[in-house]
Amino acid sequence: MTTIRTRVAIVGAGPAGLFLSHLLDRAGIESVVIDSRTRDAVENTIRAGILEHGTVEALVETGASTRVLTDGHRHEGIELRVDGEGHRIDFQDLVGRSVFLYPQHEVLRDLIAARLAAGQDLRFGVTATRIEDPESDRPRVVTVDGDGAELVIEADFVVGADGSHSVARAALSGARSGYFREYPFAWFGILCEAPPSAPELIYSNSAQGFALISQRSESVQRMYFQCDPGMDPESFSEEQLWSELQARVPGTTLVEGPVFQRDVLRFRSFVAQDLRRGRLALVGDAAHTVPPTGAKGMNLAVADVLVLENALRALLLENDDRLIDAYAETALRRIWKAQHFSWWMTSMLHVSPDASEFDRRRQIGELRSVVESRAGRTYLAEAYTGWPLEG
Ligand SMILES: Cc1cc2nc3c(=O)[nH]c(=O)nc-3n(C[C@H](O)[C@H](O)[C@H](O)COP(=O)(O)OP(=O)(O)OC[C@H]3O[C@@H](n4cnc5c(N)ncnc54)[C@H](O)[C@@H]3O)c2cc1C
Repeated sequence: MTTIRTRVAIVGAGPAGLFLSHLLDRAGIESVVIDSRTRDAVENTIRAGILEHGTVEALVETGASTRVLTDGHRHEGIELRVDGEGHRIDFQDLVGRSVFLYPQHEVLRDLIAARLAAGQDLRFGVTATRIEDPESDRPRVVTVDGDGAELVIEADFVVGADGSHSVARAALSGARSGYFREYPFAWFGILCEAPPSAPELIYSNSAQGFALISQRSESVQRMYFQCDPGMDPESFSEEQLWSELQARVPGTTLVEGPVFQRDVLRFRSFVAQDLRRGRLALVGDAAHTVPPTGAKGMNLAVADVLVLENALRALLLENDDRLIDAYAETALRRIWKAQHFSWWMTSMLHVSPDASEFDRRRQIGELRSVVESRAGRTYLAEAYTGWPLEG
């Protein structure tokens, strides 16, 4: 078994792990990042697409990505559609902010390129099997690569940025320990070759259920519709897919095209019981999961990282542990606001399978109380574009 030493060992080369390593490097703190997947898999998995105003500022100002400004698309609003009736939520007018549509895998390509250009130690195909001695000054990550070779990474601090099935979480209060909610619906997501059906995202609530009409580029579109969580993504023909989608977006004729990717995305809300133990901390999906309706997952990962990086700088450069002691409390303030917003958007926009006629009419009342009030629209715009960042 080989042992290497670094200052910060980061498990997971998702947005959280890579951005943290980038920020630490700027502060002169060495790190090693490992990921169990290949670089190709990391760079080509389609996931998040909406970046909050502050996320874009953080990526650009720290030199992590400038392509977001040239290749991304700025969106100054979204549409909420209620039974075919469209209502624009004008972010610029309401809060003077915007979001960017820039796919997560493009953010990852930028971050990986920056890490490698800076000569950082970034290892793909290396899986963490456990974290040892998190309460000591020498916590360790025990890893194995694809050939079965074991490597131990000894560090001053270990960060679990290893996503929702986190191994690092098991070394805190236990892998499943935390606050949890499951939902009785999921999203059927498609990627298709077609021009955009609308200039901005449409979040549509209809009696048939929810649909999200999103964009990726001039020739590729991403769309979702509400489905049963147990649904087999191959069970629909393309014709059925388009008819299900179209039925949920009355008022817009969708531009159809060949569907080249389909998946069923289950919904969970989760916050881990503990975010830090000694010299081990969790960031991003390892610490929390949100349903995708509020577009908060990747943004929350970036927000955690900004708070943690500040704390690690104080701890490792100045031997000051006050910020690391406050890390969980500081990060959780935003995490629970984002949990609430994601839950609220999800419950307000989806039709529950056991919804009664009362539930349906109440839901329309709720949507109208948002779209017909400037205060309601402003709350949505403020939360969607993102609260001010710490750190
Ligand atoms: C379909 C979909 C749409 C989404 N849309 C949005 C959106 O619009 N906006 C938004 O903000 N968020 C969205 N999200 C959520 C967002 O993608 C996640 O919140 C984000 O990826 C979290 O980043 P992360 O770095 O914490 O974790 P991940 O991106 O999950 O990265 C974790 C990494 O750790 C690696 N890993 C795991 N275990 C180990 C191990 N034992 N050893 C080594 N490596 C390991 C994994 O291979 C992975 O690369 C969406 C998610 C999905 C699935």
